[in-house]
Amino acid sequence: MIFPSSPPGSATGERRTVVVVGAGPAGLTVGNILRDASVDCVVLEAGSRRFIETRPRAGVIEEWAVRALRRRGLAGNLPAAAQVHDACEFRFGGERHRFAYGDLTDHRHHVYPQPLLVTDLVREYADVRGGDIRFGVRDVRLHDLDTDRPAVSYLCPRTGERRVLHCAFVAGCDGARGVTRDAMPADRTRIVRRDDGIGWLALLAEAPPSSDCVLFGIHPRGFAGHMPRGPGVTRYYLQCPPGDDPANWPHDRVWDELRTRLGAAGAPAPTEGRLIEKRVLDMHHYVVEPLDAGRLLLAGDAGHLTAPIAAKGMNLALHDAFLLGDALVAYVTRGDGSGLDGYSQACLRRVWDYQEFSQWLSDIYHGVASGDPFRAATTLARLRRLFTSPTAAAAFAEQYLGSATSF
Ligand code: FAD
Repeated sequence: MIFPSSPPGSATGERRTVVVVGAGPAGLTVGNILRDASVDCVVLEAGSRRFIETRPRAGVIEEWAVRALRRRGLAGNLPAAAQVHDACEFRFGGERHRFAYGDLTDHRHHVYPQPLLVTDLVREYADVRGGDIRFGVRDVRLHDLDTDRPAVSYLCPRTGERRVLHCAFVAGCDGARGVTRDAMPADRTRIVRRDDGIGWLALLAEAPPSSDCVLFGIHPRGFAGHMPRGPGVTRYYLQCPPGDDPANWPHDRVWDELRTRLGAAGAPAPTEGRLIEKRVLDMHHYVVEPLDAGRLLLAGDAGHLTAPIAAKGMNLALHDAFLLGDALVAYVTRGDGSGLDGYSQACLRRVWDYQEFSQWLSDIYHGVASGDPFRAATTLARLRRLFTSPTAAAAFAEQYLGSATSF
């Protein structure tokens, strides 16, 4: 939504250099980078601190992202608490096929639940670096984006009054359901979308993992995934019709399907536990091009959504945030605009690379259950190739780990 006219009370509003909308991994990382360079900023968040620190979502963080977080003093408890994974396992045709990507590439995945990362980033921003963060804001609106003095206004949760923040830049980091994407000018922006026409029942189980690694069950009844999240919590996925009702998936049905779709010779059955999260995600994706319009720059899910097929969304959010934070600091502190000029293009190269890999993986996950015997057979041929061709294995490992350097 664009509110081109100046906000009410605009003469009296506060002045900040950067307003960051959204306190997810993208917004908090941008805020921390700005704060570290003493760039004046404020982060506006619709949820409460408790809400963002407990919302379960991602878990897999790529090695380059961990290195970048550490370099900036933002890794928090991750180095001590993350699990390090060097293999995953495909299960198809009743057999287990372990894929040891660590041996192939010397790179690893880090498993660190998103709420823990967000907790670390909020603590660092607000409690350690003394950053201004306002929780529970309502009805965020963007104004005067076609000028070099935009503004952001919101309803204060305490008083109900509209507050106005004048700024030089707005970082739109408010995720897939935020408002900043809608403020991009329609005549200079396109949003490209794809819908796989597939749903996933996303589950969190209060149960220890049933394997030391991520499992992908490629089964005629549909895809199933197993992702360790910690000693007592495991994420599972079950392919289901798009828009399915989680109520159609009572406890026994979930565990029966998981046992069937993840079943393989010699494999222990999944360890059952209470299901503490159960929701249906539709596998759809979009990309906003470009990610910037004047003084508004989008980062993370606000600018591009990748369904959790390849566990890439949070990694892309972090990649954008590192580039955006650095570019804003360079411009504000040194007058160097090159990072801002190249921001959208630099982000989108990695975004499209990861989208392509997600599409490829989506074909693999869902091909056998497509009902099309030809597609099912070619899917199995692709899978077998990963275990017979070193070249195919190396290419898969590089994309799975996000370790390619030239995007
Ligand atoms: P978000 O995390 O969505 O943060 C946006 C913030 O903005 C939120 O706190 C929201 O409350 C706030 N907000 C929204 N609207 C407004 C508003 N109007 N005003 C102010 N604030 C607002 N990615 C991976 O890389 N690896 C994985 O393993 C992985 N697994 C996933 C599993 C699941 C089940 C899901 C759903 C996603 C997964 N993802 C994964 C994707 C990942 O969670 C997202 O890509 C990531 O959260 C994006 O971060 P973000 O900061 O861009 O947005």
